[in-house]
Amino acid sequence: MIRTQIDRFIRLCRRFRTWSSWDDCGFCYAGFREATAGFSSQSFICFSFTLLISAVFCLTSCFADVPAGKVFRISVDQAMWEKWGFQYPVTYIFEISGLSPGTNVKRRDSQSAAWKSMRQRDAMDFFNGIECVRFNFSQNRAFISVGFGTSNCIELEFENVTSAKFVGVARYYDDRRATYTLSLDNWGWRAGAKPGAPWKGVADDRSDNYQAALCVCRGFNLPVSIAINTSMAGSNALWNTLQEELDRQDCSWEPAVHAQTHPGSEKAYSVRGYKSEILGCRDEILQHLRYIPFGQHIFEHILTSGYFDETLLNTDISEFLFLRGFNGHDNPSSTDYAAWDALRRFYGVGGLSGKAYDPVFARRNPKGRFCESDVTELNSAVDALFKAGDICYVMWHPDRYLNSVLYDPRPGQDGVQGSTLVQHLSHIANRTDVWYVANGWLYSYRYVAEHVSVTSQ
Ligand SMILES: [Zn+2]
Repeated sequence: MIRTQIDRFIRLCRRFRTWSSWDDCGFCYAGFREATAGFSSQSFICFSFTLLISAVFCLTSCFADVPAGKVFRISVDQAMWEKWGFQYPVTYIFEISGLSPGTNVKRRDSQSAAWKSMRQRDAMDFFNGIECVRFNFSQNRAFISVGFGTSNCIELEFENVTSAKFVGVARYYDDRRATYTLSLDNWGWRAGAKPGAPWKGVADDRSDNYQAALCVCRGFNLPVSIAINTSMAGSNALWNTLQEELDRQDCSWEPAVHAQTHPGSEKAYSVRGYKSEILGCRDEILQHLRYIPFGQHIFEHILTSGYFDETLLNTDISEFLFLRGFNGHDNPSSTDYAAWDALRRFYGVGGLSGKAYDPVFARRNPKGRFCESDVTELNSAVDALFKAGDICYVMWHPDRYLNSVLYDPRPGQDGVQGSTLVQHLSHIANRTDVWYVANGWLYSYRYVAEHVSVTSQ
């Protein structure tokens, strides 16, 4: 009976492995089998404790025996790669023996492809979502951020090292301390937000409220997910604006599905049907827009009014990587990756705002007008998340504000001029120890981190 449990334990461990060196650990398994021969069931409780201690020892030994060498192969499930591309770079950590300023890392997508040297970045540099290598010479570590390209495999080669050992996938890109992920809801829903209006400048009330918001985010180097409603106010003019903003090819924003209209109940969904509202919206976005960052995919469904039911969740099966929820309040416990729904094959529903921005802006007249205590409140909330090493999920609704107030660039004077949001963003942006990422790319990263296989060649 005990041996059956050990067999089950070993099988479980095999399911959780992230690299294929487990076979090298045969001694652990054989040792367990030998150790358990002849045990009676009366010794079970005593032995269970021994088993636990031994299991920890076995795992430590086995996981210490990781892929090592100079060439490594990184791979992810073929079908999922075909569906999602996984171009967003994921950070692999290696322990290097013989690391020097002359060390070089090269990558290729297949054995027939040419090797390409990867660029290096320093810890003091500000960068997000790019392929690069960062060395930590005092720790003898390499942080290699690399995304999938023309196949579901990546090969890495280390030059001018004695040997390299794969340690694991970083929880956050470039092994950053914390993560900030931002989204904006309702582009195209309300005519009053002037979707597709000619650009007049960021703090001009005649400009499209969402284009103004995007311009502000870009100025602070904050990539943002924007939830689009496709049966929209603005029509062709809005499609043109969306495309113009993608034509920059600067990975500044991610188009996400909101819905064709803005249903917030079963009854509202019954008018067009869940499929049309959600997958129809997704198909229209893919049909109209080119140069979507990290491949022609829509990773995220941002739930209209945060509403979901069984039919909605089943409509989304395998159609998105992440479903973002909403409730309008602070959600102090929403600080981690949303769980993978194994049945429906997406992450979520999750990503509710840790700190809700809208209720803070709504206190003032006009909404969003600078107030020093509001800025302090938002800064403290986000700083606490950064300090704790959490994921900071935040969002606002650009259609609720005047551009001239919410994006007022002038220095703040309580109730007179300036913007709480702009002052807050200037406080939290551009930090080298924080990963700034759009929601869908965050979950592209997460899927790879949880499912990738790394082997030495
Ligand atoms: Zn909405």
